[in-house]
Amino acid sequence: MKLQAKTTLLSVSLSGAMVVLLMTVSLVSFRFFSLSTARDHVRSVAEVVRVSLTESMINNTIGNRAQFLERLSEVEGLLVARVVRGSHVINQYGDALEEGSHISAIEQEVLKTGTAHFAMIDGDKGPTFQGTIPFVATNVGAPNCLACHEVISGTVLGAVTIHLSMNRLKEEALITISIMFIIVLVFAAFFTYFFRRQISPVVRTAQGVSKVVSKAKDGDFSGRIDYRGSDEMGLISKDLNHLMEHLQENLGAISHDVSRLMRYELKGNTNMITTTTEMVETLLEVAQFKQAVEEDQTIQEVYSRIGYMLEEHFGVNHYSIYEVNGEDNHIRPVIVDNVLDSPCRWCDSSILNQADACRAQRTGHVIDSIDNRRICGKFNVEELDGVGVGHICIPVLHSGSVGNIVQIVVPLNHGRLYQNLLPFIRVFLRESSPTVEAKRLLDTLRETALRDPMTGLHNRRFLEEYLDTLMATTRRKGQRLSILIMDLDHFKKVNDTHGHDVGDLVLRSLAKELSSKVRTSDMVIRFGGEEFLVILQESEEYSGPQLAEKIRASVEALKIQIPNGILRKTLSIGVAGFPSDGEDVWDVIKAADLALYEAKRTGRNRVVVFTDALLTPPPEAGQGERG
Ligand code: GH3
Ligand code: MG
Ligand code: MG
Repeated sequence: MKLQAKTTLLSVSLSGAMVVLLMTVSLVSFRFFSLSTARDHVRSVAEVVRVSLTESMINNTIGNRAQFLERLSEVEGLLVARVVRGSHVINQYGDALEEGSHISAIEQEVLKTGTAHFAMIDGDKGPTFQGTIPFVATNVGAPNCLACHEVISGTVLGAVTIHLSMNRLKEEALITISIMFIIVLVFAAFFTYFFRRQISPVVRTAQGVSKVVSKAKDGDFSGRIDYRGSDEMGLISKDLNHLMEHLQENLGAISHDVSRLMRYELKGNTNMITTTTEMVETLLEVAQFKQAVEEDQTIQEVYSRIGYMLEEHFGVNHYSIYEVNGEDNHIRPVIVDNVLDSPCRWCDSSILNQADACRAQRTGHVIDSIDNRRICGKFNVEELDGVGVGHICIPVLHSGSVGNIVQIVVPLNHGRLYQNLLPFIRVFLRESSPTVEAKRLLDTLRETALRDPMTGLHNRRFLEEYLDTLMATTRRKGQRLSILIMDLDHFKKVNDTHGHDVGDLVLRSLAKELSSKVRTSDMVIRFGGEEFLVILQESEEYSGPQLAEKIRASVEALKIQIPNGILRKTLSIGVAGFPSDGEDVWDVIKAADLALYEAKRTGRNRVVVFTDALLTPPPEAGQGERG
């Protein structure tokens, strides 16, 4: 119940109780006073009657007593005045009762006991006070009762019965009480009014405090109490208003700074305290996340960490992280639903070769299909396990252009939640993006350093870096390697006859031809000028000699289109196997090289498989020298 209502109830109850109490006290007092007055009145009348009767006795006019009593009953308010004789007087003077009249039970009792009797009767004529007073014989004074009556002192001679109407008294009482009631009521109304007036600052301050505090609980410190009195309530209001101003200013500034850090615009109806606390917590987590990302060794680790962050921190179970390659207009999913290097799942795969088709990539804006279902036609998933889903694609900028796209797929009924979480997710992504960009750049540089720019094949440096790992893996798995070294026959002539550019063209054609002849698990490396190395990973038999022959034959048959027409070239191939031809892969490469030398020596356009016999120098050197 509100204070205002309580105080009103209290003052009304107090006033009511006061009215009831006063009325009750008045009524009781009035009744007591009325009865006492009536009793005295009856006694006075009885005394007048007694004195009159005594006078009549002395003057011997007692026979006129009936007229006297009649006159007496004409007095206003005196309804009945009659005298009855006791037994001694009846014996001495006779009954003297009027005809038809008799002594009532009360009179008999009074005559018998000599004790007065009073009663209040509510009859037809309204309230009536009835009193019966005994006349007792006394020998005091002269003349006294014993002078005329032959009785002893103390004998009950008779009794007088007086009936008094109380109607007037009742009316007067009612008028008096009504006036009192009105006065008390007016007083109570004034009391209630002034009490409420006095309590009003307390009520207003209490209401103000309640309103201001409840607003503050929701993070809004703009509430103020408008009571400006100079009393204690005014002081409370002033102090609370100061506190609110202080909080609004300082918390507002903190909140503003934190939201600037988050690049998150606080909306008018947000709870400043909760949102600021959440933002500070997020910033702390983001700082830890950023450090972890910086310490990750590979970019795959970073992508996995971002995926983990989406799952663990934000409860996103379905998502994709895409890498955008602006140069060749390609997009590549790097992690999908926690699986690295998995195929595109949530978007039409047409975006992969045409990055511009991705709206987030093209516009650099967040694309949200929760509010706008048809925003992007490339997101073609309507439902997941019978639940409607939407997506939010967040572009992550690398040096001003879109480097990654993070796509989250969420149930539509949780869409609003994820829209609210978006600023928080974006902070994580933004903070990790410089590291992602740097790692991608390093990977690209590394990849560039390990590839031959002309043919696009891996180069000798790659082989040098990779060979130890390859050898260890092959040994651990109990596998083997076939190594093929090949060298174009009389290549110098091509350069001499057609020029260096045609020479390059031939090398590119050969690289393409070689790549098309091996499996994806095999490696084609540009080993030197026009020397190539093919490494086959074998699980059972060495298949190097067969593949070498296949390559030789295909190159022999290859028609290379050059500006002046068609050019045909052959190559010689040396084959060796790891670990059968050497404990170390470099030894095996040397063995293959010896076999190549032998192929050149024995006529070119040939495949020679290494044998130990090649370790002994040939009888006539010089015939088939290698270039
Ligand atoms: P052989 O059959 O004995 O191998 O004779 P060859 O003429 O091929 O001799 P060699 O293998 O020594 O030839 C190497 C030549 O390859 C020398 C060089 O002019 C040429 N060459 C090496 N690298 C390149 C290149 O990148 N582009 C072009 N156009 N020519 C290259
Ligand atoms: Mg050559
Ligand atoms: Mg050569």
